[in-house]
Amino acid sequence: MMEDPSFDSLQLSLPLSQDSFIQLWDSVVTPPISTIPTADNEPHHPWRPQMDILLINDQVLTEGFDENLFELPAEILAKDGVTPPSSTVPVTTDYPGECGFQLRFQKSGTAKSVTSTFSEVLNKLYCQLAKTSPVEVLVSKEPPQGAVLRATAVYKKTEHVADVVRRCPHHQNEDTAEHRSHLIRVEGSQRAQYFEDPHTKRQSVTVPYERPQLGSEMTTFLLSFMCNSSCMGGMNRRPILTILTLETPEGLVLGRRCFEVRVCACPGRDRKTEEENNSKMGNGTKQTKKRSMYFVSAPATTSTKKSKSASSTEEEDKEEFVLNVRGRERYEMLKKINDGLELLDKDGKSKPKVSVKTELPLPSSGKRLLHKGEKSDSD
Ligand SMILES: [Zn+2]
Repeated sequence: MMEDPSFDSLQLSLPLSQDSFIQLWDSVVTPPISTIPTADNEPHHPWRPQMDILLINDQVLTEGFDENLFELPAEILAKDGVTPPSSTVPVTTDYPGECGFQLRFQKSGTAKSVTSTFSEVLNKLYCQLAKTSPVEVLVSKEPPQGAVLRATAVYKKTEHVADVVRRCPHHQNEDTAEHRSHLIRVEGSQRAQYFEDPHTKRQSVTVPYERPQLGSEMTTFLLSFMCNSSCMGGMNRRPILTILTLETPEGLVLGRRCFEVRVCACPGRDRKTEEENNSKMGNGTKQTKKRSMYFVSAPATTSTKKSKSASSTEEEDKEEFVLNVRGRERYEMLKKINDGLELLDKDGKSKPKVSVKTELPLPSSGKRLLHKGEKSDSD
């Protein structure tokens, strides 16, 4: 909970955003010195290099560009991108945009040894401190030349969202990197650039978007998180989201993807636990929810068994299954049915032409019951 000493002056400068872009620009590139922390006060890390304006013009001149570019009002240029005054709280909604911006994570499973793993169900990355998490970027349409990927961290809960995510004092102090206060790093790229918004103090890191290599459909880039979620004085157990934006060189957002991140000692274990808790909370599909009300079948491959049962052989019928039944009454009832079927099975050995038997071969155990249960479920 850091109080921003320059908050009042920020308030005063905000109305400028209603004025022309030039005025806005001036307010952006010349923040009061006091708002820039010494650690990041490097001449080659300005918030927004002024050269970019020239770049825009260069592109317009050299590439026969989309003429809409000329018509972009200043507010738009300032709104979604890196120019800070308007977005105190970063947007966290997914937006594939025209480029069809998508993320994909490698399937790392939940083994004990895994250092980074992603839960599709929870849209959440679990990783160890300072370990690399590969993130795959896919686009359906190539972004403009010079596009960048930006990673920003933000607290997930409303009550924390106003706080800026940065590393805890302990981890900052033992690091000598100039961007040591940044939670998110991009590894393996000399072209990663670290930014801190002079007004909101939010930190981000960008890396140029690279088109996929020949024969590949996506670009991989490497993120690492430099504090544990539990770090005192830092995240302090507050969940965070990572926002990845694909941006034009001018800072216009082309696409956005967000996911939760937990930095912890045992990513595999934590993912497993949280996924299990999530399914217990009844967030599963309607069908699995309904099924768990009645009985849970131990074998996992019910669908293949279903199709097999049509042509099931004696051998398959000897397979044994376990049913978990909720409620004694129901258990007794199902047991009676099963006992009856067992009896019939013994009897029926000599008279296989019983209509029931030809239609649905009788198992020696609860298999028959399982199918019954499934049928009534799907009704
Ligand atoms: Zn820390």
